[in-house]
Amino acid sequence: MARAQIEIDLSAIAANVRKVINETKVDVCAVVKADAYGHGLVSIAQVATDAGAKWLGVALLEEAITLRTHGLSIPIIAWLTPLTEDFDSALRHDIDLGVSSIALLEKVMAAGERTGITPRIHVEVDTGMTRGGVLNEWPVFLKKVSAATLSEKVELVGFFSHFARADEPQELANEMQLKKFTNLLSELKATGVTPKYLHFANSAAALSNPNATFDFVRLGIAMYGLSPDVKTMGSSKELGLIPAMTLRAKLHLVKQVPAGAAVGYGGSAITTVETKVGVVAMGYADGIPRNADNSTGVFFNGDRAPILGRVSMDQFVVDLGLNSKAITGDEVIVFGAGNVGEYTIDDWASASTTINYEIVTRIASRVPRIYNR
Ligand SMILES: *Cc1c(COP(=O)(O)O)cnc(C)c1O
Repeated sequence: MARAQIEIDLSAIAANVRKVINETKVDVCAVVKADAYGHGLVSIAQVATDAGAKWLGVALLEEAITLRTHGLSIPIIAWLTPLTEDFDSALRHDIDLGVSSIALLEKVMAAGERTGITPRIHVEVDTGMTRGGVLNEWPVFLKKVSAATLSEKVELVGFFSHFARADEPQELANEMQLKKFTNLLSELKATGVTPKYLHFANSAAALSNPNATFDFVRLGIAMYGLSPDVKTMGSSKELGLIPAMTLRAKLHLVKQVPAGAAVGYGGSAITTVETKVGVVAMGYADGIPRNADNSTGVFFNGDRAPILGRVSMDQFVVDLGLNSKAITGDEVIVFGAGNVGEYTIDDWASASTTINYEIVTRIASRVPRIYNR
């Protein structure tokens, strides 16, 4: 092994996809934006497709085109395309486009005229998140998108929205968003057009809200085996999900230090007893959060070794304990599924006051990914 590597259990991804298909009884759109949440765009798209996902979802057009050039042929939706994007290229690669403004609709239609290819669009409506989606433009947008559909200038493939608080299943806000979605859909249908597919649910809604699954769910974090929110929805294990990512690293150095040793920049940690420290060959440039505290660390030979002091750019220090058998060059688990006692991605998230989504997506591309089937 190099100084550090990520191992991805592809069978875990497949199991998570199949579980959600079985439980929701609807199709899955595998969300593989941001390099498949750090797991590797093409490999994850391939295994999700093999496991039965019928759609792929990405944010950026370049992510969608990469999937096409690697031979993935199922429908791909790209929902974050600035007006300056090359929409001709999007249409030539048969990419479905999320559309959430009049300006974007016009750009996409212009590309359709230039290329002679009818754009496949998914209209995104803002039902309460106040992020993407049509809101104030709706009355005018409605007329334009309806006319464009009736005259076959676009194909209205989808109609969708996104939850702000799906990880709080009891929140009334979710019901309000669904109600608004249904109302906007009725207005659209009243103009004489019907979208082929309705989609709304992210992982949290897919796992908790049968009223939100519609024709397919857009499955991100749960496909990677992680809980949308451990506090409100339970852990991966409680949800029956299998975390796919394990991060291993080498101990660049192991040495014995006396009590009273100040560790790392700022000397923010001071050893209370004589101990052995390990220098882990990863740092914040690899995506290890600089603000991770000593409630997390690494796992070696049956023992947890908490972080000592601040994480540096390329390394951080852990307290192995005086009796540790670790020596320079040994391998540790930074995080994994938690089956053998190692820290989990959720442990790292809470130790850094962030969410598991950020822990996995921030692991740098300089850390190689290895795939296990
Ligand atoms: C990222 C994203 C998803 C997936 O969300 P998860 O919480 O990871 O399941 C679904 N829909 C849209 C529009 C997204 O941007």
